[in-house]
Amino acid sequence: MKRLRLANLPTPIQKLDRLSDELGVNLYLKRDDFTGTEVSGNKVRKLEFSVANALNQGCDTLITAGGIQSNHCRATAAVAAKLGLGCDLIVRGENPESIEGNLFLDRALGARVHLIPPEQSREEKMDEVVKNLKEQGHKPYLIPVGASNAIGSLGYAAAMEEITKQEQELGIVFDTIVIAVGSGGTYSGLWYENQKQGAKRKIYGFAVDHNREIFVETISNIINEMYRNEGLEEPAQLNGILINDQYIGTGYAKSRPEEMTFIMKVSREYGFLLDPVYTGKGFYGMISEIEKGNFKNAKNILFIHTGGLQGWTLEQREMALKIL
Ligand SMILES: *Cc1c(COP(=O)(O)O)cnc(C)c1O
Repeated sequence: MKRLRLANLPTPIQKLDRLSDELGVNLYLKRDDFTGTEVSGNKVRKLEFSVANALNQGCDTLITAGGIQSNHCRATAAVAAKLGLGCDLIVRGENPESIEGNLFLDRALGARVHLIPPEQSREEKMDEVVKNLKEQGHKPYLIPVGASNAIGSLGYAAAMEEITKQEQELGIVFDTIVIAVGSGGTYSGLWYENQKQGAKRKIYGFAVDHNREIFVETISNIINEMYRNEGLEEPAQLNGILINDQYIGTGYAKSRPEEMTFIMKVSREYGFLLDPVYTGKGFYGMISEIEKGNFKNAKNILFIHTGGLQGWTLEQREMALKIL
């Protein structure tokens, strides 16, 4: 599969020395929030493959969808602008005046933002946008939510290869890799490459929206398609897809006071900032589980900071500072 070079790679791996000492485990942070400024986060790794495929097919416009503060939409807008492609974003939201967080960046990067109310289906709007573009003589390319299909997920298979190389340089092996899971592509890519290597790293995903069963099914489907695309035999059973859905809290992009307290504690005491939608919940889940003794066999843990700092809304900023 072809690949574009869009992300600032390899991203560094930093040991969290003080937190490691306090928890009695070696804890490392992979800074995928450093993949770039406009493209910051995990989505650009997937777009390296998705957009290569779009260009291969001669497409001139990228269409994708997401939540109101979608990091994926913002990264797609940045990549489209960089490559001189058009970009249409189908975003769920009601306030057309809003220029908060990623919405500002979407617009600043020249994307056409189509806000849809909760009752309208994404597919319906997407079909409408595609139809209009085709009538104007354009060739649109549809990227699924989060670029989480068998093509986009190759970005995290490549990231797993990058981690393997860094393990050799650092002289350590990560027995445990932890991420937040939103649409499943990041998890799928990591799992696929880990399995292909015959490696024994455990990959833990902390769900930020759907329950465990839904994610195990979604991720299994993506991984099976990745195997098929490579002409490889699918594993009969995908054992060891480890999803924890106990830290979703009050729902997608909604924060509980204890999560905000945790995020502020981490930034003030350890000097790095998490986002409230993904990494804040994932890191909170991981630390809570370590403290409960549920990561007993883990010695070297790698948490991937998948970005999201551009998505902090005014409401979330106020909540975080108020509860301190
Ligand atoms: C999208 C996203 C995730 C989740 O990745 P998926 O591949 O969708 O599961 C995690 N963190 C951030 C900041 C994201 O934007």
